[in-house]
Amino acid sequence: MQDLDPSRAESVRRLFDLMRRVNSSTETGEVLEEIARGVVEVLGFGVAAIARLEGDYLVMTACVGPDDVRAQIIGRRNPKQRIMDEFRQADKWGILRYVPHGRVDDEFLTNAWIPDYEPDDDPQAWHPEDALYAPLYSATGELLGNMAVDFPPGNRIPNQALRDLLELFVVQAGLALSNAQQRERLAEQVRLGEIVKDVAMASSLVGLDSTLERSAEALAHGFGAVQTWIRCFPDGELGRSEHAAGFPAPNPANGGLPGLRRDLVRSAWPQGGAIHLTVDAEKSRALPETREALQAVMRKHHALSLVAAPLGVGVELLGYVVIMRDTDQVLNEHELSAVREIARELGRIVLNARLYERESRLVAELQELDRYKGELIATISHELKTPLTSIIGHTELLDESEHSSISVQAIARNAQRLNQLIANLLNYSRVQDKREHVRSRVDLTELCQNSLELLQFQAEAAGVRWSISRPDGAVLVNGDPDELGRIVDNIIGNAVKYSRSGGEIDVRVAHVGEHAEVAEVAVSDTGLGISQIDQGHLFSAFHRSSNPEALSIPGTGLGLAISRRIAEIHGGDISVESELGEGSTFRLRLPRADSLDSASAPAS
Ligand code: ADP
Repeated sequence: MQDLDPSRAESVRRLFDLMRRVNSSTETGEVLEEIARGVVEVLGFGVAAIARLEGDYLVMTACVGPDDVRAQIIGRRNPKQRIMDEFRQADKWGILRYVPHGRVDDEFLTNAWIPDYEPDDDPQAWHPEDALYAPLYSATGELLGNMAVDFPPGNRIPNQALRDLLELFVVQAGLALSNAQQRERLAEQVRLGEIVKDVAMASSLVGLDSTLERSAEALAHGFGAVQTWIRCFPDGELGRSEHAAGFPAPNPANGGLPGLRRDLVRSAWPQGGAIHLTVDAEKSRALPETREALQAVMRKHHALSLVAAPLGVGVELLGYVVIMRDTDQVLNEHELSAVREIARELGRIVLNARLYERESRLVAELQELDRYKGELIATISHELKTPLTSIIGHTELLDESEHSSISVQAIARNAQRLNQLIANLLNYSRVQDKREHVRSRVDLTELCQNSLELLQFQAEAAGVRWSISRPDGAVLVNGDPDELGRIVDNIIGNAVKYSRSGGEIDVRVAHVGEHAEVAEVAVSDTGLGISQIDQGHLFSAFHRSSNPEALSIPGTGLGLAISRRIAEIHGGDISVESELGEGSTFRLRLPRADSLDSASAPAS
């Protein structure tokens, strides 16, 4: 060998020893250190250093040489790309790469470690800016690391014999890394399998919220995350609020990650992928606004990287899983595929929970409908039976001549009551399934005036005074004048009906809302008032106040149910404010019709 002529026997013995260790040891760091030591002690290099590939960086893990050199080199991170660029400019010495001084740009040198001594003039002398590397590959040709040597024996460019020996050490280093990688992959598969298992176990918990919470925790532990979030978008059909869970912080403080849903739909979801981002990355699959928003969230949680995976089944994007870690190492492909599997599993859980929720709701609705149907039949029978019993009783009395005129009056009154009930029933059933209505321009002030005129005698007879306040112009809505008139008649009629003598009724017609976009009729009375409990049911068919005084006044309990339905068909609503014994205000609100609106537009 070169000047030093190292003993071949010693090299072979050390190599043999290393080969044994490489194949049996689990301590990769130790083996790499020994390989580097062999290169220094047996082959006579001044420095030997081995870097492992971690993500996109080569990280210096083992170094043998002078202490000050070690201190400078250990832990150094070099972008993989830079080393690959340097390899391309190197002379190929078998598996070694020799980069003579002057070959690479100054930019490379500023980042490299350069020994500090004066170069020799001899062309065979080793120059301080010369570099000798050995890329370390796995059996499948995957780059795993890099060995760098410096200060060759005698400070001369290594000859063929020395290179051959160095190659033997390099092969052992490659094998050591390859074994380590296999062991780590196995351990990782076991670890990822555990996370998937934990999430699957969580799915057996009752209730979606607890499942999501446990899954968020399992993900955080499994991936060593500083924060995980799982979010399910609201179910449109159910109108349910969204489900969210997180660990350790329970829920995103900002109520979701801005733009993430749109970005997942746009990029990651169709390809079954995920959004992967580090805190400093300038590019990612996410749109720039989303990326910046996510990076801000990462900073808030002291995270350096984030992965967001879509949660879904089939074509439906149901939510997302976010994992934030305090390392800028993005997840490797195995970890990513575990995240995707977990997201799919969660998607199935969410979908099942939703299906179950929808079914339960449907069952509850059907039960309610059934109960209501029973109640309706009972009420209608009762309402029909009372006047009929009276009619039958009085027909029998007609035989006894002195009661005949009282009986005829009673028959007429009850027949009238039956007639009214049946008219209301017909109206009620008619408006239930109604979707469309005649549309013409209707002035609410005019409807109120008509109604007050109609009820004038009734009000006078009851000793009730009324007043109306209205704007100068018309208060226009689009709709069916007959149907809308029915609502106004009902609420003004009720105000008269449920007032005591001396009571007052105030009818106000106005434009309300922030932009005066709503047309309103408010009818206030100083009458009997309605209790809080009764107010809750007032708009259901057949509901009448439980107050005995109100019950003694004839009525069917259908008017307000009909009114609310008509208001809804017209895109509006009717509401009540009342205090028992004080009086009530009923408010009809409808979308205001612009004077330019087409009154004959088809019904929606
Ligand atoms: P009806 O008046 O035919 O019973 P409605 O559906 O119009 O039916 O009203 C339902 C119930 O609401 C009435 O029975 C009455 O108890 C109560 N109610 C409605 N309007 C008033 C009001 N202005 N003051 C007090 N109670 C009212």
